[in-house]
Amino acid sequence: RDLPGDPEKGPRVRQVDAALWSPVDPTPVRSPRLLAHSAEMAARLGITEEEVASVEFAEVFAGNRLLDGMQPYAANYGGHQFGHWAGQLGDGRAITLGETVDAAGERWELQLKGAGPTPYSRTADGRAVLRSSVREFLCSEAMHHLGVPTTRTLSLVGTGEDVVRDMFYDGHPAPEPGAIVCRVAPSFIRFGNFELPASRGRHELLRQLVDFCIRRDYPHLQGQGGQLLGDWFGEVCERTAAMVGHWMRVGFVHGVMNTDNMSILGQTIDYGPYGWIDDYAPDWTPNTTDAQHRRYRFGQQPAVAYWNLGRFAGALSPLFDGVEALQAGLDRFIAAYSAADRGNTMAKLGLSEHLDGDAELMQSLLDLMQEGGMDMTLTFRALCDIEPGSAALPAFDHAFYEDGKRSALQPRLGDWLARYASRLEADPVEPARRRERMRGANPRYVLRNYLSQQAIDRATAGDPGGITELLEVMRHPYEDQPGREAFAGRRPEWARHKAGCSMLSCSS
Ligand code: AMP
Ligand code: MG
Ligand code: MG
Repeated sequence: RDLPGDPEKGPRVRQVDAALWSPVDPTPVRSPRLLAHSAEMAARLGITEEEVASVEFAEVFAGNRLLDGMQPYAANYGGHQFGHWAGQLGDGRAITLGETVDAAGERWELQLKGAGPTPYSRTADGRAVLRSSVREFLCSEAMHHLGVPTTRTLSLVGTGEDVVRDMFYDGHPAPEPGAIVCRVAPSFIRFGNFELPASRGRHELLRQLVDFCIRRDYPHLQGQGGQLLGDWFGEVCERTAAMVGHWMRVGFVHGVMNTDNMSILGQTIDYGPYGWIDDYAPDWTPNTTDAQHRRYRFGQQPAVAYWNLGRFAGALSPLFDGVEALQAGLDRFIAAYSAADRGNTMAKLGLSEHLDGDAELMQSLLDLMQEGGMDMTLTFRALCDIEPGSAALPAFDHAFYEDGKRSALQPRLGDWLARYASRLEADPVEPARRRERMRGANPRYVLRNYLSQQAIDRATAGDPGGITELLEVMRHPYEDQPGREAFAGRRPEWARHKAGCSMLSCSS
């Protein structure tokens, strides 16, 4: 246990060498105002809508007031950032309030993001701006409804205080409104929590964290004797593979897959400069900070996840005799990701089995989409509803961003559709059943950056209504929602290069 900070001066920013976490209270804000909440998450936690609307709720989830039993702390972790060991990072602006158990017996950690400085704030202010908080709030809920493993969000509270940010790339005038989200997950432990004590040779601390994590988050593995650690590592590998498989299915680009942003539960965590594939481009990343090397580009996410697991394995290696068990865990990633990839091909194309040529069939569609600049979401959604064959070509018209590319691609897209049609003839599944399956794997609605930005612009002007409206759409991403076609279209041309609508920076 580390010493608490000075109540007058706030926490002492420092290297915390001998502890896994530090007690720290949120710093109160001027005028908390609830801007949005997730009704599902509130209900899950047993919080009524009446309670959500109370002044007390906004105060608690702005960090102005603690409830009985809350013992706030910030976690200590390190990480590999963009391929390099970065030393101690830690929760520089996240503070866990505590844990709660819901009526179903599930345990949730409640964590404020942007609640003020901690011992891990380094040179930064511990705060978050409204735009990044809206993005985290919306995306974690949207991902949940898409069926992607993710941390959740309970609330989005405006602080009534300004935050100054370096808007070096888009010329927005600083300062900006501040906000705090309360995110919710069974655990916020990251690979980096293990890497830090390992990097310092603090093997007892490392062991303590591993035991804690298994006891709390992987209780089903206990009592398995000598294999325990290896089984645990292997399960983390499999869960990570499944998570990335879902990202690839829905066209999500995380943007900052540093090892400090990799959850030990295989949940998507830390929504920063993420984005969604519009015109299909496996080399695309939304993160301006990564624009040169594109380490975290869409198509490289599975390989990066594997690389990150390698760093995690390295951190755990002092607890293992030899490398076999760790290598076996990494192999489980390969197998699980291959299975997820095959599953994506089957689900997205509506196949009930995976035959030899299917990976190639999928790849040739992706190649065409890339060459033609076709919208990923719109292309796959259109595919759900057609009778394949070249007569189906017009169904794809709205997926093209450029008319010229459309006409150039049409003959070959027609050829592909003919191949697809004959493949479907060999597949035993009923057309109606196939359509239903495909519509459950190929979303109609995804949280394109420009949609969030529109909600952010409205909220910045004082009207948070667009956030709730967008959340409502994203709660049913696989359903056709009459009257909400505007949320299901291509990214508009004006949004291509507009700040926040396509590319984003890390610092927000
Ligand atoms: P991220 O790029 O969001 O994963 O953040 C990397 C590290 O920077 C983490 O340790 C964060 O806690 C820290 N960090 C990011 N923004 C701030 C901020 N405004 N104040 C303090 N720490 C921050
Ligand atoms: Mg982070
Ligand atoms: Mg972040």
